[in-house]
Amino acid sequence: MTPIPFNKPFMTGRELWYIAQAHTNGHLSGDGQFTRQCHAWLEKKTGARRALLTHSCTAALEMAALLTEVQPGDEVIMPSYTFVTTANAFVMRGAVPVFVDIRPDTLNIDETKIEAAITARTRVILPVHYAGVACEMDTIMDIARRHRLFVVEDAAQGILSTYKGRPLGSIGHMGTYSFHETKNIVAGEGGALLVNDPELAERAEIIREKGTNRSQFFRGQVDKYTWVDIGSSYLPGEVIAAFLWAQLEEAEAINARRMALWEAYHAALAPLEAEGRLRRPVITAGCEHNAHMYYILLESLEKRTQVIADLKRQGINSVFHYVPLHSAPYGLKSSRHHGAMTHTDALSDRLLRLPLWVGLEDGQDRVLRALREAL
Ligand SMILES: *Cc1c(COP(=O)(O)O)cnc(C)c1O
Repeated sequence: MTPIPFNKPFMTGRELWYIAQAHTNGHLSGDGQFTRQCHAWLEKKTGARRALLTHSCTAALEMAALLTEVQPGDEVIMPSYTFVTTANAFVMRGAVPVFVDIRPDTLNIDETKIEAAITARTRVILPVHYAGVACEMDTIMDIARRHRLFVVEDAAQGILSTYKGRPLGSIGHMGTYSFHETKNIVAGEGGALLVNDPELAERAEIIREKGTNRSQFFRGQVDKYTWVDIGSSYLPGEVIAAFLWAQLEEAEAINARRMALWEAYHAALAPLEAEGRLRRPVITAGCEHNAHMYYILLESLEKRTQVIADLKRQGINSVFHYVPLHSAPYGLKSSRHHGAMTHTDALSDRLLRLPLWVGLEDGQDRVLRALREAL
């Protein structure tokens, strides 16, 4: 019985060839030819004013935190049901995450609960597009405009997903992508910052280049490069960019194969949902998703624990996430929440992610059989 892992990073076949080419080009540090190709691809696909590769989505969120200039004690409204760095990037600047509950259908931030959480210290709204399914961005952007807040989209899971035809990550002032090996398009560790607000674009380049105007220097816009601002080293080397370029070239094809797997799960599990044994993901109107994740909601924590163990006995690895940040040890110290966290608390105990990766085609029936038995 061959084990079925939860995730297996897909390679298109050209990654190593492009890495060799980067070496032949004689440029292995950041912002060489492959990085420029990745930037151009991301800008073309998203319409972002500036796309900048980073070491990770986490690094892109840290850059976003710097660009919003949040000060100690400023508040950032976000869901608690998310990955830790959504919050930590801002906590590192002394800002305070203010968590509001999620919607029970998409598990995204409940846009109707945001406005009541705004105080005189609020600076940023940080929607997370869970499973690559869009948050209600029209409502969120309207609230942000009326209260003069930044919107930073954590689109770590959302590459090539859209909201009313607009790419995720391109709607707020900034957006972030992840190319971690568990995401649709991978570079091992990697990410990108999308800068949509033109007023932030130049400073984003400087912050990414250790606080220097190096990018302008290389474009011939200034005659020497020097220390002009705060910053750090957020740019990946060309080996990562070359690997990523092979993936971006095939991004639509990769997502299409994931979508076929997603749809197969969705169709096969419809009868179990009808029997009340599980709940399937909900895709809201106006959202085109990218098949990042197939999750199911079970009746209880006990049931989930049993299903994971039963699948494991059949050699199938299924996983859950997240411990809600408002109840995590550091969340209790650094953050607060506004209003009841009813859905966040209830759903995080019941969610189970099934294996979904390009190449699973042959094993998917086995996962479904084992799941039916476990239920
Ligand atoms: C994966 C993920 C991140 C972190 O991405 P890295 O590239 O690993 O830093 C942040 N937020 C969300 C919602 C994620 O899913």
